[in-house]
Amino acid sequence: IAVVLAFTACSGTRGGEASSASSGAADKSSTLIGIAMPTKSLERWNKDGAHLEELLKADGYQTTLQYADNKVDQQITQIQNMINQDPKVLVIASIDGSALAPVLETAKSKGITVIAYDRLINQSANVDYYATFDNYKVGQMQGEYIADQIASLDKPVTLEPFAGSPDDNNAKFFFSGAWDVINPLIQSGDITVPSGKAPASNDEWTQIGVQGWSSDTAQSEMQNRLNTFYAGGQKLDVVLSPNDSLALGIAQALQGAGYEPGADYPILTGQDADKANVLNIIAGRQSMTVWKDTRQLGERVAVMVNQIVEGETVEVNDTSSYNNGVKDVPTYLLDPVVVTSDNIQDTLIESGFYTAGDLGL
Ligand code: BGC
Repeated sequence: IAVVLAFTACSGTRGGEASSASSGAADKSSTLIGIAMPTKSLERWNKDGAHLEELLKADGYQTTLQYADNKVDQQITQIQNMINQDPKVLVIASIDGSALAPVLETAKSKGITVIAYDRLINQSANVDYYATFDNYKVGQMQGEYIADQIASLDKPVTLEPFAGSPDDNNAKFFFSGAWDVINPLIQSGDITVPSGKAPASNDEWTQIGVQGWSSDTAQSEMQNRLNTFYAGGQKLDVVLSPNDSLALGIAQALQGAGYEPGADYPILTGQDADKANVLNIIAGRQSMTVWKDTRQLGERVAVMVNQIVEGETVEVNDTSSYNNGVKDVPTYLLDPVVVTSDNIQDTLIESGFYTAGDLGL
């Protein structure tokens, strides 16, 4: 879905931009950049916030970084408080992508530029840029992994699908990417969904969405499905989990139902390469995760901030995939990477995302 427009050779790195940023006339030491993150409860957002703040500080900016405990009202209040301090740019990873339009009106009236970080902000004309990993591709990688893995299994295989939080704009892209691969295999009879919780179309994904990306909710939903639809000894072969927080809860439920690592352990997908999940991959309790190197996202957003502050053209590589209900938001899309037990060393460790010691290797 990504149309590459102004792509340069420095994808994922700060490349040549750093020099133009430092040669500009803007007084960065008196320029405030506000960063609003959704929650500290997930490892990735802690890394995202800390890394972006560190990059902006190193560039000489003043920063304010706030976490909102996954509470929409709290995030709105935090953003309002930031606006009161007259930042030049607001970087927002939203909780509810449709709840920020009124507060962004205020931001616009004060001439603040808004970057949607990782998650698109909907129903607002006042979102200037969006930086994210290719969300459709994340789901597609999960779907294709499943299709590859079941190719050698006896058919039909059983699968249980899960989707992300209904208020997160990303969740529908993750689901569509995966379901465009999996649904045809359900239609052809290669896959069955014993619980019946198989959305008939991509648009019906919220039926199986897990509010707040909660591990606990995913765990109890998986337990319910196992108790109700697999009680007669039927084996579960595959679980489509859109991310690592859900996969953690699902792995707990699988363990509780007696599934142990080995040939019969279900294929289980994920996203984020959170440490607990990488440890589960090493232990055979999760099959894969889609790694989004949050350092690259931070670097890209820092480049955007510098370009905005310097009054330069902001580089994007997609102008048509992300419509927020009011406009197509100019977007910079980064590439996700599939991680399995076979390439942890070449991906997560070699890049320095984790040390071997972090992972007990
Ligand atoms: C992010 C994922 C993350 C999920 C839960 C999504 O918007 O793109 O990386 O797993 O939120 O926090």
